[in-house]
Amino acid sequence: MLKRLLVGGAVLGGAAVLARRLASGGDSDDRARHVSQTPEEYRGARHRVLILGAGFGGVSAALELDRRLSAADDASVLVVDRDNSMLFTPLLWTVADGRSNPNDVVVPIRNFQRGRRYHVLQANVEAIDLENRVVRTSAGDRPYDHLVIALGSVTVVPGLPGLREHARLFHTPADALELRNHLIDAIEAAHSLQDPEERAAWLTFVVGGGGDTGVELAATIMTYIRAGLFAEYPWLASESVRVVVVGRADRLVPMSSPRASREVQRALEGEGIEVMTGVSVEGVTDRAVKTSRGDIPSRTIFWAAGVAPPPLVRDLPVEHAKNGALIVDDHLRLKGYPEVYVVGDSAWAFDSATGTGIPPTAQAAEHEGRYVGQAIAAEITGRGAPPFRFAPRGHLALLGTRTGVAEVGGVTFSGLPAWALWHGYYVSHIPAWRNRVRLLTDWLAAEITGRETSQLRLGRDTVWKDEAALARETGSGGG
Ligand SMILES: Cc1cc2nc3c(=O)[nH]c(=O)nc-3n(C[C@H](O)[C@H](O)[C@H](O)COP(=O)(O)OP(=O)(O)OC[C@H]3O[C@@H](n4cnc5c(N)ncnc54)[C@H](O)[C@@H]3O)c2cc1C
Repeated sequence: MLKRLLVGGAVLGGAAVLARRLASGGDSDDRARHVSQTPEEYRGARHRVLILGAGFGGVSAALELDRRLSAADDASVLVVDRDNSMLFTPLLWTVADGRSNPNDVVVPIRNFQRGRRYHVLQANVEAIDLENRVVRTSAGDRPYDHLVIALGSVTVVPGLPGLREHARLFHTPADALELRNHLIDAIEAAHSLQDPEERAAWLTFVVGGGGDTGVELAATIMTYIRAGLFAEYPWLASESVRVVVVGRADRLVPMSSPRASREVQRALEGEGIEVMTGVSVEGVTDRAVKTSRGDIPSRTIFWAAGVAPPPLVRDLPVEHAKNGALIVDDHLRLKGYPEVYVVGDSAWAFDSATGTGIPPTAQAAEHEGRYVGQAIAAEITGRGAPPFRFAPRGHLALLGTRTGVAEVGGVTFSGLPAWALWHGYYVSHIPAWRNRVRLLTDWLAAEITGRETSQLRLGRDTVWKDEAALARETGSGGG
């Protein structure tokens, strides 16, 4: 019996070690292969490639350089990011809809570095000096021979009356938790109020912006309330929940084909979401959202209409697009600075053959990052690179509990197949086994035991500062 237990334990232990190895990338000798570098070693390299930002664009560029450069090229590749993790934004919706944990959708950057020949510096990028080819970071200056700017974007909130004061944003795991917290507050308010108009206002949610983020945000709000919260408040389930998407363009997701726009609108309306296209938000008060088609009584507006590069990028003294993105040539280089490449949301780029604008998506950022990795490796090894071409792989949107829209290879479909494809594609695409395992486990657990409905407040001050006692102790209390 004891022998059987011991054998069973050893098998389980072995399986756990193997699973951990797989989850961490299967590296057999992590310490020996995990390279790191001093600032002096970086400075001393013959070709210094500095990548600012370890998101979709920056990491793709670093991985491509790792694939293409050899030790003989004497190149040092340094990736700088303020965080030690890469946020996999497409799956953020599953945190907001109560099925995943925030950690499931972020991947530690040093995971990618393991066994590869690029280096990571966790620091804030503070300034870029294009003339002197040096970047100031919170960990000191870093000169470069090639620079890749991949610093992403922030949500832009226009200065409409009351909008900046009231708008809620959706860009980070903290925003996803805050969305859940707020929806729970709104449902609690509806539960405790007697006045039907007040209740209706708390149960009305407006999303400004009919692009990819806006439509998925609206669907997430409806899904979380109906499939998550109403399980806790069954007596409210018969109340009418109003989610309204307000978009200024004449169709939803205007960067997709008209067919995909129609399918997205159909799917949203099928979920009970109101769609207003060709309508502008004109202002917000604490009681209503003012639109060009009249007021919508509501206590909640989420803003998802437009992104712009961070101020550091917008302030560079070069040519910018209207939203502040950096205008690049057909090799994704800054005009007048051929050693500087820009990728992802910070770039204003076009396909070199068709002249079509490149959308601010993870897919495009990855594609651009890979191209820039190839182009810099080609330069270092004395070759040239062809101009940049972008071939979109398709478009996926999660639009409800069991529905979505997919546009792949010219074919558009919706419903459960699109929903399943969305989950399959993104879970296989997040670049870490550990995250895949956790996501699948969490989604399954949510199906069986229900979605997460407890509030999690970030940054609440739990320390009671007894100012009077402090003053007495330090003798500064006077008297
Ligand atoms: C909620 C949401 C859902 C989305 N869903 C999809 C989707 O389904 N499909 C899709 O294709 N796209 C999606 N996107 C868009 C996609 O996330 C972006 O287009 C993509 O992340 C852009 O890649 P990037 O490399 O330019 O920037 P990012 O991936 O944002 O990376 C920028 C990096 O720069 C770092 N950084 C910024 N400033 C500094 C600084 N001063 N110092 C140091 N580091 C800094 C950041 O920490 C970050 O790691 C979504 C976006 C959001 C907000």
